Amino acid sequence: MAAKQYVYRFGPDEHGVDCTEGGADDAWCLGGKGANLAEMARMGLPVPAGFTITCQTCVSYSEQGVWPAGSLDEIQAAITDLERRSQKRLGNPENPLLVSVRSGAPISMPGMMDTVLNVGLNPETVAGLATLTNNLRFAWDSYRRFIQMFSNVVLGIPLNLFEDALADAREQAGVASDAELKTEQLQALVVRYLEIFDQAISYQTRAYLETQTGSASFPTSATDQVLLAIQAVFASWDNERARLYRKQYNISDALGTAVNVQAMVFGNRGMHSATGVAFTRNPATGIHEPYGDYLINAQGEDVVAGIRNTCSISNLKNVPELAKPARELYQTLDVLEQHYRDMCDIEFTIECKKLWMLQTRIGKRSAQAALKIAVDMVQEGILTREEAILRLEPQQLDQVLHPHFDPSHQIAALAYGLNASPGAAVGEIVFSSDDAVARVKAGYKTILVRPETNPDDFCGMSVAEGILTSHGGKTSHAAVIARGMGTPCVCGAEALHIDIDNKLIRVAGTSIELHEGDVISIDGNSGAVVQGPLPLIESTMTPELIEVLRWADEIRLSPPSGKPAHVRANADTPADGALALKFGAEAIGLCRTEHMFLGERKEIIQTFIVNDSPHAQAQALKQLLAVQTDDFYHMLKIMNGRPVVIRLIDPPLHEFVDDPRMLALQLAALEGEGGHSEEIAAMQTRLRRIDSLSEVNPMLGLRGVRLSFVYPDLAHMQVRAIVEATARLVQEGFDPKPEIMIPLVSLLSEHVHMRRVIEELIATIEQQRGISLDIPIGTMIELPRACFIAGDIARYADFFCFGTNDLTQTSFGFSRDDAEGKFIPLYLQQGLMDTNPFEHIDEVVLNLVEMAHEQGIDVNPHIHTGVCGEHGGDPASIVQFFNEAQLDYVSCSPYRVPVARLAAAQAVLQRAGTFTAEKS
Ligand code: ADP
Ligand code: MG
Ligand code: MG
Repeated sequence: MAAKQYVYRFGPDEHGVDCTEGGADDAWCLGGKGANLAEMARMGLPVPAGFTITCQTCVSYSEQGVWPAGSLDEIQAAITDLERRSQKRLGNPENPLLVSVRSGAPISMPGMMDTVLNVGLNPETVAGLATLTNNLRFAWDSYRRFIQMFSNVVLGIPLNLFEDALADAREQAGVASDAELKTEQLQALVVRYLEIFDQAISYQTRAYLETQTGSASFPTSATDQVLLAIQAVFASWDNERARLYRKQYNISDALGTAVNVQAMVFGNRGMHSATGVAFTRNPATGIHEPYGDYLINAQGEDVVAGIRNTCSISNLKNVPELAKPARELYQTLDVLEQHYRDMCDIEFTIECKKLWMLQTRIGKRSAQAALKIAVDMVQEGILTREEAILRLEPQQLDQVLHPHFDPSHQIAALAYGLNASPGAAVGEIVFSSDDAVARVKAGYKTILVRPETNPDDFCGMSVAEGILTSHGGKTSHAAVIARGMGTPCVCGAEALHIDIDNKLIRVAGTSIELHEGDVISIDGNSGAVVQGPLPLIESTMTPELIEVLRWADEIRLSPPSGKPAHVRANADTPADGALALKFGAEAIGLCRTEHMFLGERKEIIQTFIVNDSPHAQAQALKQLLAVQTDDFYHMLKIMNGRPVVIRLIDPPLHEFVDDPRMLALQLAALEGEGGHSEEIAAMQTRLRRIDSLSEVNPMLGLRGVRLSFVYPDLAHMQVRAIVEATARLVQEGFDPKPEIMIPLVSLLSEHVHMRRVIEELIATIEQQRGISLDIPIGTMIELPRACFIAGDIARYADFFCFGTNDLTQTSFGFSRDDAEGKFIPLYLQQGLMDTNPFEHIDEVVLNLVEMAHEQGIDVNPHIHTGVCGEHGGDPASIVQFFNEAQLDYVSCSPYRVPVARLAAAQAVLQRAGTFTAEKS
């Protein structure tokens, strides 16, 4: 459909024959609501007649501040047409047409924009409506609702003024619910509402009304009311909350909203009338049975507003007056599902036993429900496996792969932060890393609460059930580390004022204070922070998840076209390795050895670095060799038969030694106390040594392969440990498959030299043991320079693994630390960047990867390529790595392996081109 017109009709004409002009595919023009109203009308479902003003009209109106040429005439004509079709007239007291004026953007933005119901009521038409329906109370109930909504949405008068008046009316009448108010009480309320309007309307709005209607009083002309409501809905596209919402969900400001003008139907006409919302399947569990709520004798928002207790939709058929429309509703739900081939979410109204459909869309669902629905729909023959796979959102799997809160349980959050690392956690509040460690040792579960975290908090972070911060974004230290560890994390919960010194949290806007030891629950899926313990559902590989991943594996490992898409995991310890296997990793794509130097081992390596005595150094190396051989032995054993890419020592050396500032403080204290002179001298030497290692820009300093030039013994020790462990396993009958990776190469000679050293060591040990080993040697490509010489490196490399974290950092030129919470969010805020390059691979960085890959393959057709780092677990980036850069594998943290398996299958299906991803 081409958007030539400003207005499109939907629903029946005056003979009850459908005269709809658009359909479900026209959401970009009719908005989601308008497109689906049109679709339902075409399907022959009972949709009240109406018309849709296009999104493009809204865009033009917002930009120019006036109606685009000819649009007002079209709207007038559509109103006249609707009057003819409904055989009612706007503003005619004998037979008044009442309409709803409803917003509806191309992409659903729930609750962000406005809708006005019962438009067309005034003192004359309210009387007409009463006569016509023979129901005075209903007419006045509709009228008071109209004044309230119109005053709020169109004229900007605060809703609570009306809510308060309504509450007063209930109190005076001595009733608990609005439905019990009598006609006279509603009439008095209307008078009161009009007074509120007079008192509360702003000077500007009064002036606006004057120019629009020629009078500053509450508009009584039905046509004026309709036009004012349409303009208000247009304007709601640009209200602050809608703009913020679009920013957050990356929705373009240029889309605009459509406006649907639709004949009213009334669920508030008495006990034969009702209104409700429903899903075709349970959106929390996925169970195939309608789910939803209704209210008898109610209108529109009442059901979701929570002002009356709603009834479950399963009871509707048991209400004798409503049994027939209930049956129709159930049938309609089936029809909609078959038609849309997906779970739908609907709004309906029953007016005097007649069912009307007011909205439908593809329903939002929990991850658990999404999986169950996918598997069921394949079994029911509604979807093919491929379609089911394409429809799932890989990101959503996070919800089931971690402990989570019961999705059908309503929660009252204290505050919301960013959902930085998935999963839910319950524990008592601790305010420091040390406290976390101590409490956990004592057998308690903790949530580590900090304004933000830094590397010193690592121990506490690794023992806590969850991490909560009041500052920092999704790439802050807390977020990155938590995701790596699979620990739930909520970041940047700004409503929480965390007072570390007094061990106290104040919740903004409330008098609530939380203390150390108080139990809280945090939800890394929604960002909610809840007071007290919530029941947790443990993560499981549910049968549905296993089934879906089995399909995904079949697709990605034997693709209809192109290379298979492999998935590996990043794992530093045998425990992580086991987890990776459990989640279906085919191999270990990155085993970082520096994490093996924490705790007691940190002291050994410190001795090596800080001590000048060759003897002490040799001693330290010996100890390290023993523990590292053991590390690799266990890792390779658990991954028996599967490749394990082991990266030689990488981080800047100073990360292994104490913070010189802390040391200086201790030294000063010791000197102040008049401590032992020997002790003081030793400390001074140590401090000097550490100072000599400190660098202005350690991230680009003495690290990676360069460490192995300055401290060759360290790398030798590691290679020896790898080879010894391998030899041992081979002799025990295992099938170890280590691969050695050289980090942070920037010069060809660095790589070539290291490779020679490694090969010589392997050869020596092979000879000593009388065995022959096959250990591939490759490099980590993580500097732009390395990308440019990838062709040269490839001659000496068996594999390339792209380290996209460092590659992103170095090609942007800002350090990741700065990116955390500072530069990037600032750039994002300023609109200089649309996406965070640490979350989704940046185009330029991807081009570097592509280029390096092509050069590598040209020179060495056998080279094996993959990517490790945060991007390896990001579904959008995964598709690009496989389909644009043509890599062989992605490697990600164990918890993200199922996500990556699904995303890899989607990449393969999209590549095949026969399927297009459906976006709900
Ligand atoms: P939202 O997008 O916020 O759901 P809607 O435009 O769907 O806003 O309308 C809000 C409520 O009013 C819904 O419950 C809807 O069913 C009801 N409603 C909208 N139009 C009509 C109508 N023509 N007759 C009766 N109820 C209506
Ligand atoms: Mg709605
Ligand atoms: Mg790196």
